[in-house]
Amino acid sequence: MKILLLLILLLPGFNEDVEKIAISRPAQSRNNIKVGNYLESELKKIGLQVERQRFSSGTNIIGTLRGKKSDTIIIGCHYDSVRNTPGADDNASGCAMTLALSRKLKKTNHTIKFVFFDNEERGMIGSRYYAKNMKEKCIFMINFDMVGHLRIKSFVPSNTVFPGIFKKFPWAKQISFRQGAGPSDHAPFQRKGIPFVWIFTGTHNRYHRPSDTSNSLNYKGMEKIKEYAEALIIGIDGGKQVIDYNNLWTLEYKH
Ligand SMILES: [Zn+2]
Repeated sequence: MKILLLLILLLPGFNEDVEKIAISRPAQSRNNIKVGNYLESELKKIGLQVERQRFSSGTNIIGTLRGKKSDTIIIGCHYDSVRNTPGADDNASGCAMTLALSRKLKKTNHTIKFVFFDNEERGMIGSRYYAKNMKEKCIFMINFDMVGHLRIKSFVPSNTVFPGIFKKFPWAKQISFRQGAGPSDHAPFQRKGIPFVWIFTGTHNRYHRPSDTSNSLNYKGMEKIKEYAEALIIGIDGGKQVIDYNNLWTLEYKH
């Protein structure tokens, strides 16, 4: 028990992960490879099976948590950035979120794939490649792209989609749901008819600029999003209809 506690304390938190990842890392750059290696070693540390999926302009990193069923839930994010920005919000924040969930989720019904897509910035090349070559039956995809700027104050109320989850997370009532998809890694899955959620805390004036730095992220907000996303994934894994499957939704935190 003591050893387990020590291990948990030794695992990196959001800011440690973001510090490692938030360096300019366009696809095929040296920093991109460095960050890919970091993600791989973190997934291996917790005992996940890790594979690299190479395509012409990059490499997706995939960690697998085997569940009772072979059908999958994909938890995804992109790890490349545009040039000349540390890309802390876009998208070291989403990578840190995916890593945090990979360390938390255990003993699931479905097989969970933690997928770090490469080369999103030049047209979702990694996620398109993954979706095209996917053999498994994916029941749900959650995409974290830019989750580091949560501002709760000015959310737009909406409670039509996740009624169960709002009891536990009243603040999430104020998330707005938008039909359709923006341009991020959920789009290739949406095109295949896979239910998805994109968690996104909105754009800002640091977006794709050198000022998108690790010290500008809302780490407390990220903790909230993690708890919310974890409950959502556990609900879906347990077969709860927490999503309106007749519609495909993009979930956006409005500023
Ligand atoms: Zn992005």
